[in-house]
Amino acid sequence: MASWASGFIEWRRSRNRKAIMKLKRTHDCGQLTRANVGEEVILNGWVDSCRNHGGLIFLDLRDRYGITQCQIDPATTVGGEEFKTESVVAVRGTVQPRPEGNVNRKRATGEIELMALECELLGPTKTIPFEIVDDSDTREDLRLKYRYLDMRRAPLTRAMVFRSEVTRIIREVFHAERFVEVETPLLMKTTPEGARDYIVPSRLQPGKVYALPQSPQLFKQTLMVCGLDRYFQICKCLRDEDLRADRQPEFTQLDMEMSFVEPDDVFAVIEKTVTRLWKELLGKDLPATFPRLSYREVMDRYGIDKPDTRFGLELQDVSAIAASCGFQVFSGAVAAGGSVRAIVVPGGAELGRKKIDALEAVAKTYGAKGLAWVKINADGFQGPVGKFLTEDELRAMMAKAGANTGDLMLFVADRNPVVYASLAQVRLALGRELDLIDKSRTDVLWVTEFPLFEYDEEAGAWFAMHHMFTMPSTPLPDRPGAAMADIHGKLYDLVINGNEMGSGSVRIHLPEVQRKVFELVGMGQEEADMKFGWFLRALEYGAPPHGGIALGLDRLVMVMLGYDNIRDVIAFPKNASGVCPLTESPSEPLGDTLDVLGLQLNPDFFKKVETEG
Ligand code: ASP
Repeated sequence: MASWASGFIEWRRSRNRKAIMKLKRTHDCGQLTRANVGEEVILNGWVDSCRNHGGLIFLDLRDRYGITQCQIDPATTVGGEEFKTESVVAVRGTVQPRPEGNVNRKRATGEIELMALECELLGPTKTIPFEIVDDSDTREDLRLKYRYLDMRRAPLTRAMVFRSEVTRIIREVFHAERFVEVETPLLMKTTPEGARDYIVPSRLQPGKVYALPQSPQLFKQTLMVCGLDRYFQICKCLRDEDLRADRQPEFTQLDMEMSFVEPDDVFAVIEKTVTRLWKELLGKDLPATFPRLSYREVMDRYGIDKPDTRFGLELQDVSAIAASCGFQVFSGAVAAGGSVRAIVVPGGAELGRKKIDALEAVAKTYGAKGLAWVKINADGFQGPVGKFLTEDELRAMMAKAGANTGDLMLFVADRNPVVYASLAQVRLALGRELDLIDKSRTDVLWVTEFPLFEYDEEAGAWFAMHHMFTMPSTPLPDRPGAAMADIHGKLYDLVINGNEMGSGSVRIHLPEVQRKVFELVGMGQEEADMKFGWFLRALEYGAPPHGGIALGLDRLVMVMLGYDNIRDVIAFPKNASGVCPLTESPSEPLGDTLDVLGLQLNPDFFKKVETEG
């Protein structure tokens, strides 16, 4: 086998001999079939494998279109040798049918092979640090460091090609619907989404910074004031949020905005786009319109605003019975304004103690003090709750929740947010554990009528649930306070198989309403003018009613492909620590970069913040 160095020297020699590419491909590696038998062709590609079978060399040549088997006889093939795996090679040869026993039905090119007449090493390679196989168990940071090798793996190549098809179809639909594709600035004023901005110091305006967009929200609304009527963009958004396994500091959105619309008009465009994507790329028919469930309904049924509706186990409210029962944990929760809700697991009386304990651990992670349970056995009730409730109370709860003999009932009694959050996760854990999720299904739905504001107990303040630009559907109170909890907005989320795919709303187009919302979330007039004065001014000059949405493109592609790692659908992602192992960014600033900007970095500052907690 040629070493990398000798391969390189040979490559340079041959380059010097001929400046042009002599063995330029006539076909790709996934193209040749029986129909080409007898033809002389040239293939270029990467050596997927090279096996020496007693003098005859079998070379599998790969490019993104497929793999073709080539036979090299070093005695007769010009330049024929055993090439190193992942080097780039050209093969000129004659297409011949494979003998019957050697046909590979799994490959498009499996009926033929190429009898090599001439080979040329186009790009030598060092020995690769990991194998290029579909199911790689190589640690992710190593794969990201050598991303160009990682991306040669079929699932990643497929993801990139698929993603490109997704954006092609999106553009086709949006152009057909008379949307205008507009690029909004990357260097902009602080954005309003709440999470942290990445900032870029300005050299020309010393002492000032730009922010990188967390979303083009205000620009797209301004485009409506411009009169563009229908805007879309496939754009990068950047959020300097705390790290989570599936979070990328930069991500891609399909962003859109429309004038003179109600939520239904936005839904129609997105429904057209999503149904077309599923039909064209996955061959699946989705309903022409997606079910609409109110926020209230999904919370009551699933405890979460992005429900996976591919399986049952819906939450059952047994508060009315619990309120008057003798079990203080239950009655006390209801008396304090909370609730008692249950999940009925059909046939769950079979579930062992270990599994129930594991479910309780899930509930506790989401704030519940415990997970009460009772098994409904043929010979009576079994489990902690059975001891505290009378038979009549238990029977009444069974009837309310639709439980039968052989079932298991799981309860959480607490403040409503805790009941919802914990039971929602217990439900999902059960769905996975009992294999109840029908993976062949695609459940797409709209969640509508979100509350406009939510109260953050820790911060002791009201926040906009989505963002501050959503039009309230009910009159606003004069002052911040509890009444804000009842204000709803024309807010909606698109949910696919339990994944939040995007959020949008009908916006505020009246400056006085916008000012009022700023005030209710605790932003004084001065602060509002400083941050959003330019935008408020735009609203004063003939702003049309408008609304829109943004979908997360990375997540959309991931869900369509059924992948579970967002990084597998992004070409050059950051790892879970926000680092790009390929380019080693972020890195220390080079040369006089900082001096030019009059900046100094102080990494000790972060250490200090950490130790001070
Ligand atoms: N700008 C919003 C976001 O990025 C989406 C929207 O309201 O259109 O979440």
